Amino acid sequence: MTTFADPVPGGRPGDLRRVAALTADLAARDVRGVVLAYVDTAGVCRVKTIPTARLEAAVSWGVGMSPVFDTFLAGDSIVTTDVLGSPDGDLRLYPDLDQLVALAAQPGWAWAPVDRITQEGDRHPGCARTFLRRIVTDAAERHGLTFKAAVEIEWAMGLDSAPAGAFVPAVSGPAYGAIRQVELSDCTADLLTALAAQDVDVDQLHPEYAAGQFEVSVGALDPVAAADRSVLVRQTIRAVAGRHGLRVSFAPAVLAEGVGNGGHLHLSCWRDGVNLHADGDRRYGLTAEAESFAAGVLARLPALTAVTAPSPASYLRLQPSQWAGVFTAWGRETREAALRVITGTAGRRDQDANLEVKPVDLAANPYLALGCVIAAGLDGMGAGTSLPEEITGDPARYGPDEAAALGVRRLPRSLPQAVEEFRADPVLREALGPVLADAVTAVRLGEAAAVSGLDDAGVAAAYRWTY
Ligand code: GLU
Ligand code: MG
Repeated sequence: MTTFADPVPGGRPGDLRRVAALTADLAARDVRGVVLAYVDTAGVCRVKTIPTARLEAAVSWGVGMSPVFDTFLAGDSIVTTDVLGSPDGDLRLYPDLDQLVALAAQPGWAWAPVDRITQEGDRHPGCARTFLRRIVTDAAERHGLTFKAAVEIEWAMGLDSAPAGAFVPAVSGPAYGAIRQVELSDCTADLLTALAAQDVDVDQLHPEYAAGQFEVSVGALDPVAAADRSVLVRQTIRAVAGRHGLRVSFAPAVLAEGVGNGGHLHLSCWRDGVNLHADGDRRYGLTAEAESFAAGVLARLPALTAVTAPSPASYLRLQPSQWAGVFTAWGRETREAALRVITGTAGRRDQDANLEVKPVDLAANPYLALGCVIAAGLDGMGAGTSLPEEITGDPARYGPDEAAALGVRRLPRSLPQAVEEFRADPVLREALGPVLADAVTAVRLGEAAAVSGLDDAGVAAAYRWTY
């Protein structure tokens, strides 16, 4: 469970009661340092680390870090908004002790996600984790809703020994193939061990389609914990792979051509312990509320793309007929629609039914992506909107008239196009608040400008090892 209370100067009372025992336990396990992690607007995980003995001080008073990272680009240059991007000011990072975990593949280290507050003790309006906590808390208070979420993780395994910057796949053989599984047998077994030691319940781990590509899917949690987990799992994959002489890329497009790395979101709405995506009277067992939620997400997908596909490299991945879901359409178990309605297997639907959002990659800040998708869904729920006709098969086959009649649109083809849609969307802007919304716009435009003049291969190379 996530700690839903905001941090306060002096420390959250519950945290102060726990921290001495926790520190002693970590020290007894020879954990010497704690990684304090958050994800910036560009989707890069930034960290500070502290000696384990400083955990009590961090829980009480936070750890300093500049707000400037809110407008860092993935390549570490800086853009500005009205209020962000200056060298002035400081923020305090407060670890969430409920999510603190000893890192199995980095002996000597523990890890915790942080919330960022101002030196005055106020919420930092640029903190993505605080944003998602607020969206989830408001939904519970106003609508009695909770959510379960999971982020799928796809990545490419490359050889560390490859020439500088190049990607040389670490496995050969066919997609989903046994050859690949055998070739990385030791590494993937170590990954399962590390994830289990960190209490991450893995649903499945498999060799994927693209060169060197693997995927892991994990159990669903509350959205903040799911976003934390996606960051932790990536840190773990990278650390395990490094011990096997492998280099990892979560970039949307490791190469300019072909299938990319997705970070599909799975989401379900619950009330009083009941899954609203099962046993309802709408199509495929959806309740009216779950249908409206899905319709709200569908309606805002073009604008959401600026949050869920935030890198110039995202648009190399967002191509038709590659299971990335680049059309505003929905269908049951349809892997080419942006929204895939998953009913689950008979007998387990009340547990498993959920909505998958596919045009999401791992350059996306998972806190912003989940928060914005939930905000879009809640807007649809509030308006009682209905889903249009479902699609089957690949929407890429539709001619323009048929697509228009079905309301099927291609999602933005570039980051500037996505920003245009985002800017015109009052619901997402309102949910994010002006500071985060402006940061999203500025960072995306900065990212686009940073690669102007590069061809597709240059864009893929520019982001290959940044995520
Ligand atoms: N690699 C695909 C993507 O970029 C997803 C494949 C799958 O459905 O697992 O989204
Ligand atoms: Mg996959």
